[in-house]
Amino acid sequence: MAAKRLFLGSHLPMRAPDSYLGTCHLALEYGETAFMFYTGAPQNTRRVPLSRLKIKEGRSFLADHAFPESKIVVHAPYIVNLAARSDPLSAEAAVSFLVDEFRRVAGFGLTTLVLHPGSATGETPQEGIRNVARGLDEVLERDGTNVRIALETMAGKGHEIGRNFKEIAQIISLSKNQGRIGVCLDTCHLNDAGEDVKDLDGLLTSFEETFGLRKLLVIHLNDSKNQRGSHKDRHENIGYGTIGFSTLEKWVGDPRLADVPKILETPPANSIQTYKKEIAMLRSGIYDPKWRDRFL
Ligand SMILES: [Zn+2]
Repeated sequence: MAAKRLFLGSHLPMRAPDSYLGTCHLALEYGETAFMFYTGAPQNTRRVPLSRLKIKEGRSFLADHAFPESKIVVHAPYIVNLAARSDPLSAEAAVSFLVDEFRRVAGFGLTTLVLHPGSATGETPQEGIRNVARGLDEVLERDGTNVRIALETMAGKGHEIGRNFKEIAQIISLSKNQGRIGVCLDTCHLNDAGEDVKDLDGLLTSFEETFGLRKLLVIHLNDSKNQRGSHKDRHENIGYGTIGFSTLEKWVGDPRLADVPKILETPPANSIQTYKKEIAMLRSGIYDPKWRDRFL
């Protein structure tokens, strides 16, 4: 019997000296068939030149192992905020950083960049939504790549934009580059924003009606430390949170989502080997109660 087609992996670090080659090695070691990384530190915009990241070596390692590059995604640093434009200098800096970031993603041979829509700190949510659409258009008209953006649904902390499908859909509909904009669903964020992630059919029906399923580019598969509707955004290990293993396993196994890369961003308990364990459980469909205790 052919192995089940499943694109499942985790967020992975990229560290010198092996850089991207090291990231690709880790993916194989953890049994991943998809993964996500930042091109540098997530909390700043300093980036080293691509020539120092062992990209060619990483890509040939991936090719040797028939690893599908289309299931590898990059996450933009979370300090990039397109929603706030009250400070014109930082708005311009966010746009020019993203132009470079799109080119970096293309330089890795990849085509998907996950982006948080941002926070409307000095403006109304509607202005924030318009700012994101305008900022994205400025980027997408300048970058010269075919990289797609996956706008992530957020938990709705503070002034976050993208707390529901409607806000993400408004951003996309205001953009002149809709063909290059898709969506990243995060199970923890959806839960914390108030959606019922246990009702996968209902959620996918609503997604289909709002965007069409082909717009679903990435899934962040996380359990949540908080109750539905808490607007908190604190990720939990698989099976230890309020969402639970059986729901997350349902997301992993649903044939409608088969081609979408699913990425864990769960807390590494002492060691990122926890990803290996979580992936193995989700792949087999068998939950190992109290598995995390062995990593603490
Ligand atoms: Zn994210």
